[in-house]
Amino acid sequence: MSTVPATDLDAILESVEDRNPGELEFHQAVHEVLAPLGPVLEAHPEYSRARILERIVEPERQIMFRVPWVDDHGEIHVQRAMRVQFNSALGPYKGGLRFHAGLSLGTVKFLGFEQIFKNALTGQGIGGGKGGSDFDPKGRSDAEVMRFCQSLMTEMYRHIGPDIDVPAGDQGVGGREIGYMYGQYKRIVGASEAGAITGKGVGWGGAQVRTEATGYGLVYFVQEMLAHEDDDLHGKTVVVSGAGNVSLFAIEQANKLGATCVACSDSSGTLHDPDGFDLELLKTIKLVERGSLAEYPGRRRGAATLTPGATPWGIACDIALPCATQNELDEEDAQALVANGVQVVAEGANMPCTDEAVAVFQADPNVAYAPGKAANAGGVAVSAFEMAQNAARIRWSFADSDERLRAVMRQIHETCRKTAARHGFEGDYVAGANIAGFTTVADAMLAQGVV
Ligand code: NDP
Repeated sequence: MSTVPATDLDAILESVEDRNPGELEFHQAVHEVLAPLGPVLEAHPEYSRARILERIVEPERQIMFRVPWVDDHGEIHVQRAMRVQFNSALGPYKGGLRFHAGLSLGTVKFLGFEQIFKNALTGQGIGGGKGGSDFDPKGRSDAEVMRFCQSLMTEMYRHIGPDIDVPAGDQGVGGREIGYMYGQYKRIVGASEAGAITGKGVGWGGAQVRTEATGYGLVYFVQEMLAHEDDDLHGKTVVVSGAGNVSLFAIEQANKLGATCVACSDSSGTLHDPDGFDLELLKTIKLVERGSLAEYPGRRRGAATLTPGATPWGIACDIALPCATQNELDEEDAQALVANGVQVVAEGANMPCTDEAVAVFQADPNVAYAPGKAANAGGVAVSAFEMAQNAARIRWSFADSDERLRAVMRQIHETCRKTAARHGFEGDYVAGANIAGFTTVADAMLAQGVV
């Protein structure tokens, strides 16, 4: 690897593919970040001399371990868990844990890589990491989830800590799972190190607005994108995908700002409610009962329908917010959205749009497109607020935290626009986010020597 010319982006990409075979999502994420860096590397030969690119695509540490647990019938299961500690140039590794059947190291590496630059954009002094397990919490009892979480933490505790690595939630990991993991961590280390994990309950070290932060922050980012065009959310029609943490709080904030959300989705299909969602009913079904969207039409008066197997992207809207999972919106979906007059596409999920879909949006001057590492950074920003409050033993109010979240999203939006313009990519949020995130991390790596 050390023989690759550092300014040759293609050669570096090829090397990443060779060294990480079969990890297609990781290759895709590296490609997206590196693509706009040509002018930056030309302007900063010191990055190439210090081999920043070659170092930044290699995780500092990857941990993989066995997680055995016993189900309610006494059967033993063996899961695999991992934590990728990707880059600590800006601070402790920070990023969520995902519980999803079939989760692979390649997926965790793509998420960890994205996290480095997202965290840099927040300006909060946090490095990038990510982890998870192939455990599927769906249909498992609370007791089973607790035993699994305790078993996972029995190994993971030795790799994390408030100044080392601070996990949080992601798909399949919400307040319940964070509670069980934190309880076990505290029991093993014998200390109330609240800052070792974020997403805790507000009554025991959690931050106000953390639950809402990714979805709210996404909508605040969209608000900034629209404001740039002298527009706002009032009267806009919004379509989201997913019906989890990010989606439901994006719907909530979009509603608050005067928009109407008419579609969302889960593994049972796409729910279309042309009158706008009954959000309390949605939250009850998805967050309280852990049920399926298929239950919504029968419990709601009106014209709501659920279409199994469909995505929401064929439904006409002004604003599309993919908030479910990676590569869920392809070229055909993008073309359908554009044909229906979509104005803004902002990613709540990590890398939900395929490269081809992004190309469709970016080719259309009437569409503004924002990548996840900028638009969904509100969640990790409020996680950093949680760490700060834990360290200082103070609590911020909901209103204070929400205002700080707004300020961070406003600042990320401005950084993306200004950085893009400065490097000849006017109005390109992808280039702006990647260049700004990269240079922040690269400068820190440069200052810290060859480590
Ligand atoms: P959740 O597990 O809470 O929700 C995910 C939702 O998406 C669920 O409703 C799930 O359906 C649905 N879903 C998943 N895959 C598909 C699919 N292929 N088709 C249709 N629906 C699908 O996860 P989060 O909301 O926490 O995370 C969603 C995305 O946002 C992920 O990409 C995550 O990495 C990203 N993200 C999350 C952050 C956070 O703070 N939570 C922060 C930044 C990014 P079902 O309910 O049936 O399982």
